[in-house]
Amino acid sequence: MKPEEFRRHGHAIVDWLADYQERIRDLPVQAGSSPGDVKALLPAMPPQEAEPFEAILADIDRVVLPHLSLWQHPSFFGYFPANALPAGILADFLSTGLGVLGLSWQSSPAVTEVEEVVVDWFRQMAGLSPGWFGVIQDTASTATLVALICARERATGNSFDRGGLQEQAPPLVVYTSASAHSSVEKAALLAGIGRAHVRMIAIDDAFAMQPEALESAIAADLAAGHVPCAVVAAVGGTATTSMDPVAAIAAIARRHGLWLHVDAAMAGSAMILPECRWMWDGIEGADSLVVNAHKWLGVPFDCSLYFVRDEAQLLRVMSTNPSFLQSAVDDRVRNLRDTSIPLGRRFRALKLWFVIREQGVAGLQARLRRDMALAQDLARQVAAAPHWRLVAPVVLQTLCVRFEPPEVPAGRLDDFTRDWAAAVNASGKAYLTPAVVAGAWMVRISIGAHTTEAADVAALWDLVQAVAAKRAMDYAA
Ligand SMILES: *Cc1c(COP(=O)(O)O)cnc(C)c1O
Repeated sequence: MKPEEFRRHGHAIVDWLADYQERIRDLPVQAGSSPGDVKALLPAMPPQEAEPFEAILADIDRVVLPHLSLWQHPSFFGYFPANALPAGILADFLSTGLGVLGLSWQSSPAVTEVEEVVVDWFRQMAGLSPGWFGVIQDTASTATLVALICARERATGNSFDRGGLQEQAPPLVVYTSASAHSSVEKAALLAGIGRAHVRMIAIDDAFAMQPEALESAIAADLAAGHVPCAVVAAVGGTATTSMDPVAAIAAIARRHGLWLHVDAAMAGSAMILPECRWMWDGIEGADSLVVNAHKWLGVPFDCSLYFVRDEAQLLRVMSTNPSFLQSAVDDRVRNLRDTSIPLGRRFRALKLWFVIREQGVAGLQARLRRDMALAQDLARQVAAAPHWRLVAPVVLQTLCVRFEPPEVPAGRLDDFTRDWAAAVNASGKAYLTPAVVAGAWMVRISIGAHTTEAADVAALWDLVQAVAAKRAMDYAA
């Protein structure tokens, strides 16, 4: 493809995306696809001969768009907001178009230095002290894995320089809670801890970790001769946005020499609002933390911000220094490959840089405040509606609701809950995520797609009440 053709097709794609933004409201939020529908539209064999670019692009309308669930839709209330702000989309396009890799500082100096500066911007935006060093990882799952590997190495005096975990006895123990994201247990398993040594600490009525229960679990492990290694606290637990008490957990971690990793993947964006910072009170006592800029903040997936207190320890655990990557300036620069699992580094910092500049801190704050106000407003209406119940406090922008009308027998409420949520999703008019908390099904309403306005939330509440009331009739005894 010549530059002139690239220009033409590139313009066509930007036009397509701008049209998509303009008409997204009229598209179904959830695809009505069945498994295999997309594959049936694709040839099983690769094309032998080159195809015209127009034909490839036309398949976006034919094969792809009808089979997507639209996360940027104003009526997307599923999972969590994964906002792709337009400035971030363009930056990601640029990043790919530049086609550079940060293997070392020298391999593309701007990749490293823009990242150093904009991640530090976010540190300041979140009210964190200069004692933190941050880098971009692909996802929170990776960041938490890196954290637990660093914790493991600290607890074993760098076992990886010797026989590794294969020579480690007694066993290391990691603590978290049932409110933690599944990525925490996965990271512990991948870090070699083993399921038998991952403790799920009891939670309270607001689904937050109970510090006394953590303290006694550590005591029991010490008595059994185990080595408590790390605790992962959730600031913004997955199902209900629960807030583990970071200060109390940090005090316990410090007393017993545990690594404290704070998973603020979702809620961390809210820390740009001074009025929300109580949610991670005590954060300065943590060893590491992760915030997904690719969620509510608005940077297109993927872009996770990983901060540590001890930069030297991160480098020690993650570094590699083959001859072909050495350079004369190595003692004066950061080589960010030494902070992450992959060697190659995308220019992810570009989209964070663009989003912060194009929105300004004030613009980002205003949108988050809008979403929180919409959530509180809806929460008041849900709480006031007969037989509707909020099953968890509405801390940020997620509501956990349950409808328990008298005509539905108690034993069928779980089925009914999943059923009305599925009916809402099948309507194509809104998208919600059902989930289990405290052993019962509820439905999460996660507000915060950047396109969502007050009228969209109002329409959702009308829809949900109408659909649930209609489904309830089928359950009447
Ligand atoms: C979304 C989320 C994760 C996982 O994020 P990825 O970046 O997809 O790995 C982990 N923890 C919490 C609390 C989350 O909200």
